[in-house]
Amino acid sequence: MIVDPDCIFCKIVAGTLPAFKLHEDEHTLAFMDINPISPGHCLIIPKTHFANVFDGTDAPLAAVMATTRRVAVAVRDALQPDGMNLFQANGPAAGQTVYHFHMHILPRTAGDGLLRGGHGMQAGDKAVIAGHADRIKARL
Ligand SMILES: [Zn+2]
Repeated sequence: MIVDPDCIFCKIVAGTLPAFKLHEDEHTLAFMDINPISPGHCLIIPKTHFANVFDGTDAPLAAVMATTRRVAVAVRDALQPDGMNLFQANGPAAGQTVYHFHMHILPRTAGDGLLRGGHGMQAGDKAVIAGHADRIKARL
């Protein structure tokens, strides 16, 4: 397991920083975000340190997704939000502030105005969209 001694999430994994822990298993840890965007906002992390989706490998990322689902069901059942977003940020331009991969569970209330929509409100240029699809598929 990789540990970055300066990483606050690694310190939470090690138990040297406190957290409101929700779930822990061999590969993942889930805990409450202490600066919540909405009530019930929580985070799921791999225990091994890597910064983002580009640096992660399949096994810890799959473990994070499995724990995310488990915790999401519990959040839904416990708090009964109107909806829920799962999101994850890579790099400062995307809003990442802690450089240890983490998935957010963000319970939503109808009309809360957070994270407006998952897509644009106007139809995009189909040729541009197709071009982007071709460029992405060429890398898969
Ligand atoms: Zn870390």
